[in-house]
Amino acid sequence: MKNDTLVSFEGVVKRFGEFVAVQRMDFEIAKGEFLAIMGSSGCGKTTTLRMLAGLEAPTEGVIRLSGKPINHLPTWSRDTPMVWQSLALFPFLNVRENVEFALKMRGVGKSERRRRAEQWLDRMQIPEFAERNIAQLSGGQRQRVALARSLVVEPEILLLDEPLSALDAALKVRMQSVLKNLQRETGITFVYVTHSQSEAFSMADRVVIMSRGKIEQIGTPQEIYRAPRTRFVADFLGSSNIFTGKVTGADTSGVALDTPAGLLHLASAGGPARPQIGREATLTVLDTKTNLALEAPSGRVNAVRVRMIGEEFVGATATIYLETAKGQEIRVQKGHDELASLPLEIGQELVAWWAHEDGHLVTEG
Ligand code: ATP
Repeated sequence: MKNDTLVSFEGVVKRFGEFVAVQRMDFEIAKGEFLAIMGSSGCGKTTTLRMLAGLEAPTEGVIRLSGKPINHLPTWSRDTPMVWQSLALFPFLNVRENVEFALKMRGVGKSERRRRAEQWLDRMQIPEFAERNIAQLSGGQRQRVALARSLVVEPEILLLDEPLSALDAALKVRMQSVLKNLQRETGITFVYVTHSQSEAFSMADRVVIMSRGKIEQIGTPQEIYRAPRTRFVADFLGSSNIFTGKVTGADTSGVALDTPAGLLHLASAGGPARPQIGREATLTVLDTKTNLALEAPSGRVNAVRVRMIGEEFVGATATIYLETAKGQEIRVQKGHDELASLPLEIGQELVAWWAHEDGHLVTEG
């Protein structure tokens, strides 16, 4: 265990009867870290968080908090304060009373409770709502009250389960920066469950990607985006073109893959492990690193003949959808300027190309 480790999961398994909700999990959360747990519905995110909160006991393995096993300790009897951010505010209490509630339960005196609650309402920029009923608040204001209510006890960890899912898109983005700033300023460890890539990647220091009860990858958003470890992760993120084929060459200078899109090459720097000749392997290349041209450029590049099948514009960026002769979809994402010289019409024959160095080999699956 490292010095700054606050939480560790060691061989943690959770079964409900025969059903394995969480397979052997080993990972650590550092003090002051913003960790997002991300994955599609039913992959075990909430179960993982509930085990950390003490709301479920692991079937196997140990969860440690500051080095001490906490598997069977309910949340309230732990040394380290950990708070579950629930959006269920008490409707019969006003905003200030909601924020004061946990302090009252801890026996904090009236004037001190009020002082601390008001401090948090100020910090969340909602001091004018102190006397309001919960029913009279907007979704974003309720969010801020819920955060103030959780943070007023100055926990060491805050556990958040899809806290922004009910908000509209613009508010979501605003609350993401509120959350990120709060986490930075307070230094409180945040463990944040979401199925949203944009939430996880914009706020978290590290992201855990889960699929079917298993951790597929843990890393910084950059690491995961640039180098997905498994085919699942590359598919899930949806930001890479993916080619699977047989390895026909592998040496210090690189790897060659025979794929339905043609023979593709990868510089040795593209992947950590050298694959075996004859085995299947998967190459990914970011859609932002995939280029378009009328003719393949010379040099150490991969070139795939494609036909344009669609386009999409979001702000200054265009996504061009293409198809190989064998029906594989390829996406290219570029700024408008970079595509300006090309005849971009549906049905146009083009070449999608990328440098050998820009490919990446997934190491598993
Ligand atoms: P979502 O994004 O839909 O909330 P999730 O990733 O948070 O999904 P979990 O709630 O952790 O998923 O559930 C993981 C799996 O465990 C699901 O298949 C779920 O049906 C199952 N599960 C969760 N709790 C129980 C329970 N108490 N008894 C039986 N099965 C359960």
